[in-house]
This record gives sequence, structure tokens and C-alpha cells, in this order.
Amino acid sequence: MKLDILAIAAHPDDVEITCGGTMIKMAEMGKKTGVLDLTEGEMGTLGTPAERLKDADRAAEIMGLSARENLHLPDSAMECKHVNIAKIAAVIRKYKPQTVILPYKYGQRHPDHRIASILGYDACFLAGLVKAKLEGEPHRPHKIIYASSFMKVEQSFFVDISDYWERKKESISAYRSQFNGSKFANQIYKPGIDIFELLETYQRLYGIEVNCQFAEGFYISEPILLDDPTAQSPRSI
Ligand SMILES: [Zn+2]
Repeated sequence: MKLDILAIAAHPDDVEITCGGTMIKMAEMGKKTGVLDLTEGEMGTLGTPAERLKDADRAAEIMGLSARENLHLPDSAMECKHVNIAKIAAVIRKYKPQTVILPYKYGQRHPDHRIASILGYDACFLAGLVKAKLEGEPHRPHKIIYASSFMKVEQSFFVDISDYWERKKESISAYRSQFNGSKFANQIYKPGIDIFELLETYQRLYGIEVNCQFAEGFYISEPILLDDPTAQSPRSI
């Protein structure tokens, strides 16, 4: 199966939190979407890996994913080494995504998020090498975008997720092992702050930037090329 978008992240629930609204929106637009979780999140304070994988399946259904896989790399002990890059590259070759979404590289509280970003980029490169010792046909994604929500960076662009905000919250709530409504559980993503309040604050703030109710932010490292500069939104004044 060929995917339009493959989101790669360290732990089950990372994609839902950082770019779940966009993934839902793309699926609703008829695009084939998938998620590759690199670990089972087994070092998480709450829940067992088995519970978290079940949660991930529920969230996948809510997001309308066409595929979700887990590489079972060690949580909180992921390393930037070739064997891991090759494992991810094999998944990229399998699904041939047009676009890959990675975590933003800098300013990450959890080291796995930073390492997932580096591994993901290197895997996109390796997957396209004709002579790489990998299964499958060479494939290099056309676009790599970084989910940079909650990062203090100049965001490159925003995606309007106003119509999908409620479903994004549902997909995160599917992680019953992680966010069960208790004060402690809901504060684990950022200590002292409720995950849903945090998300609502950022998503509304991004929305204000681009004249919509809720938006998700992304970073890309190359400039954006427009066919028609008169068709841009939001309006300037
Ligand atoms: Zn994470």
C-alpha cells in the first residue's frame, strides 16, 4: 500500500498530540495516512506497553489511519545508529510516502523526540539510495515536514484544524493508560500543565495567527514556492 503521508514519532501518542488534527484532516480529504511509532513507550510512568498499543489502535481508528506500525526500539534508549536508520528506511520503502512528518529536532524535553527526528531524516535519505542494502524499491519522500507545535520557533506554516479539533482530542483520550482524566495522568506530557489545556492554548494561539479557530504548526527547512502569490491566506490587513 502506498501512503500519501507517514508520520514518524518516538512514542505512541506523540503523533496525536503534535499533528493529530492534520492527520485527521488529510484522511478526511481522501489521502492515505499512516503512523510509524518507533517505541512502545514502555518507559512511560503510566500503563503497560500492551495497554498503550491497544490505545494506539483505538487512536488509529479515530484518526482514520490506513496503516500503523511499531518498530519496538527501546524507549528512552534509542540510538542514532545505522541499524535503526535502516529499519525505518525499510518502512519508508514499504509505504512510499509522498510526505513524511517528523518531530521537530530542537528544544525537545524528551531525548527520544530529538533522536526520532534525526533517525527519521536519515532514513528518508537512506531509503532513496539505489545501492542501500535494504528490501524494497528505492524511494525518497518528496517532502519532509516537522511537527513543531509547542516549540518556540518561527513556524513555517500552519494547518487549519478547526473542524477536527474535537476528534484530535478524542484520539488523545483514546490513550486511556496515559490520560485518564486524573490530575497526575493529564499532566505527564508537560509537568504541572493539563495536556488538553496546553493543547487548546497553543492550537488557539496558532489559530489566531492565521485567522482560524484552531491550527497546528509546522517547520520546514527549505523555502515555500508559490504558483500564485495572490491566492494566499490569511489576509494581511
Ligand atoms: Zn513522546
